[in-house]
Amino acid sequence: MDIHEYQAKEVLAGFGVTVPEGALAYSPEQAAYRAREMGGERWVVKAQVHAGGRGKAGGVKVCASDVEIGEACEDMFGMKLVTHQTGPDGKGVYRVYVEAAVPIAREIYLGFVLDRTTQRIMIVASAEGGMEIEEISAEKPESIVRAVVEPAVGLRDFQCRQMAFKLGVEPALVQQMVRTLQGCYRAFTELDATMVEINPLVITEDSRVIALDAKMTFDDNALFRHPQIAELRDKSQEDPREARAADRGLNYIGLDGNIGCIVNGAGLAMATMDTIKMAGGEPANFLDIGGGATPERVAKAFRLVLSDKNVQAVLVNIFAGINRCDWVAEGVVQALRDVKVDVPVIVRLAGTNVDEGQKILAKSGLPIIRANTLSQAAERAVGAWKNDLSQGVTMRAVS
Ligand code: GDP
Ligand code: MN
Repeated sequence: MDIHEYQAKEVLAGFGVTVPEGALAYSPEQAAYRAREMGGERWVVKAQVHAGGRGKAGGVKVCASDVEIGEACEDMFGMKLVTHQTGPDGKGVYRVYVEAAVPIAREIYLGFVLDRTTQRIMIVASAEGGMEIEEISAEKPESIVRAVVEPAVGLRDFQCRQMAFKLGVEPALVQQMVRTLQGCYRAFTELDATMVEINPLVITEDSRVIALDAKMTFDDNALFRHPQIAELRDKSQEDPREARAADRGLNYIGLDGNIGCIVNGAGLAMATMDTIKMAGGEPANFLDIGGGATPERVAKAFRLVLSDKNVQAVLVNIFAGINRCDWVAEGVVQALRDVKVDVPVIVRLAGTNVDEGQKILAKSGLPIIRANTLSQAAERAVGAWKNDLSQGVTMRAVS
């Protein structure tokens, strides 16, 4: 789960990271009021969306008066901010953060990530702050410094000092760097984060080390033990299809194609998507029903996939171990009876109780296209989809 910049700053401040003074606003009037309350002469108005690259997309504006704050907000509120991280649809701006502007002397990139190769938390930093890490690694790879944290002992101060020196931070500020790095590390581990990124971490003209931007991502599977973090969820920033699924306890990933996929297990989902692509189609999503899915759960999954307006065919691919093919079949039949479906439905079942499952599908009298293997299922799904397209059938699942 992602959180907003202002939330990440509040979290990190709780771990000793210095952040600029700021205030949240839900309207232009409130933004101007909160800036006056804060005092000062220059402020930065920042659109709160779950994506970086806002600066270049018009989501970060430096203002020198109430009027300018009002104008900046008028432009931002309600807009769909499109940055290189949001995808073409952009993300809605419903909150802005107003900060006291900071005089920047230097910008540093700082990121904490989980490194798969070392299976450790890795700190990635660069003296070329302000640029995105992708740009830095393409254009200035030699500027990147890394440190790996040994979990048995945690992040050591000497590693932080070493990193500060490599980044060319002057000796008088090294202690502030240590505090910042240790704060981020503690927030990362204690809150089960999967990513902390501060870009830029700035050194101000008056020699302070401040996190000017902050991004945090948390492990969804650990949210249950961090209610204060779970509470920061903002559904307006999520793919509505994925948010609806999450509310129903289903794992759903929205994609751009037309074939809806209902599968069990992430590995099978990957294989199913590859096979669809090899057959000339594009998946619209994948929905993982997990293990031990009841007919009700399968039916729920089915309705969810059908509610996606991009879905023009549905492929059910279940390899049942813990699952039962007969329950899956019952779920499919239940859903097709409840919801009027006018897109082709292809079902491939294998594993536990497969014969019972096939019988249920056959007896239902519903126009379900059956397949025995994954490649056959993918070919039939793509074939049925193309056939419907060429016949000009209006393909919408109506509920
Ligand atoms: P992002 O584009 O979404 O990563 O948003 P950032 O919060 O990183 O802001 C983009 C850029 O705006 C930063 O890299 C800074 O150069 C600039 N910026 C943000 N806040 C301030 C500020 O307080 N003072 C000054 N001078 N520049 C700022
Ligand atoms: Mn940034």
